[in-house]
Amino acid sequence: MSDFAKVSGSSEATAITDSSPIMAGGEAEKAADFANYFCSYAYLYHQKQMLMDHVRMKAYHSAIMSNKAQFQGKTVLDVGTGSGVLAMWCAQAGAAKVYAVEYTDMANHARRLVEGNGLSGVVEVIQSSVEELELPCKVDIIISEWMGYMLLRESMLDSVIRARDRWLKPTGAMFPSKATMLWSAVSYEEDQDEKVDQLKRSLNEYEKFSQEMSKFYNINVGPLDEAFHKEQKDYYIYSSLWTELRQQHVIGDPCVIKTLDLQTCTLEDASDVKPVAFSINIPFAVQVSGYAGWFTVDFAGSEGTPLTRCITLSTGPEAGYTHWGQQVFYFQEGINCTPDTRLHGELSMFRQEKNKRLYNVKFSMQVDDEAATEATYEIP
Ligand code: SAH
Repeated sequence: MSDFAKVSGSSEATAITDSSPIMAGGEAEKAADFANYFCSYAYLYHQKQMLMDHVRMKAYHSAIMSNKAQFQGKTVLDVGTGSGVLAMWCAQAGAAKVYAVEYTDMANHARRLVEGNGLSGVVEVIQSSVEELELPCKVDIIISEWMGYMLLRESMLDSVIRARDRWLKPTGAMFPSKATMLWSAVSYEEDQDEKVDQLKRSLNEYEKFSQEMSKFYNINVGPLDEAFHKEQKDYYIYSSLWTELRQQHVIGDPCVIKTLDLQTCTLEDASDVKPVAFSINIPFAVQVSGYAGWFTVDFAGSEGTPLTRCITLSTGPEAGYTHWGQQVFYFQEGINCTPDTRLHGELSMFRQEKNKRLYNVKFSMQVDDEAATEATYEIP
């Protein structure tokens, strides 16, 4: 799952009832959350994009079909069923009952698909937020595709954790069961140059605009120079970029910056990445253009009932195209490294004040023992 329109002037979360503000507000907050987040999921076009992500599809399909014994006669909850695809696979794998919950009107399309595939005896599509869901019993398995850019963006994991704490039997299993966030150095000079050039072009154009404002309209826009420069720099430099990296762009070994055990993690665990140290040894002479982040999720079952065949879904450059791609954080200037250079620092990822489904990433950067610098990027 990923991507939703970024709408400015979005909701200020107010009525926070626990450490997770997602879906916890009143009617006004829900309406804003719908406009900013949910509404894109009501389009078949968007669901189709996810259905065409074969790395994603194959991983979920294998996780279910290679572990049919886990599903035989079981009760399953699919959190955010979208088109209903995961719920239908669970039914095909032998589940006795699948509750397929979807907040948006996509639920109507899912119902039609379930009927058309002859699975309405097993799959029950329920249009509701999972937070407001009422079920007649607890479930054996919770399946969900909740991941956003850099894993946490969209904050849908909150909803999955709430569903788990309320509806999963103590012996039940989460699909997926573990998530890992990775961070790596990247060398991709063409892409970085393009970003820096775009900034230069924008600032040159502003110069021209400034002169015209003065010449034609007798207005001096000088008092706005600094603000405009900052705005453009935030946009072109201090925003991460969706990129489809190749393996050769990744320099050194990626670092693990966070793991989440989805059977047990709390809302607090899922809300951010607390400051964590990273260190990357550069193996050869190269110009490093920035850092990149991505994630993997594992399907391994629960401690009591481990899966016969564990499956990993990777969104890293080695796995090929996924709609998540990688988020790249380009520096304004590349760093020339030699075979013994060590790039290190501290990274944190935290929710934006004005929209808790969006995140910023802050990292410090140090080359060997030189002085450290620090920057905060927004994930658009
Ligand atoms: N399971 C589908 C869709 C994944 S996209 C698939 O794998 O293809 C995530 C879906 O979850 C979206 O359709 C979104 O509308 C829904 N969703 C997100 N948060 C939800 C919540 N709190 N309650 C119900 N549905 C939710």
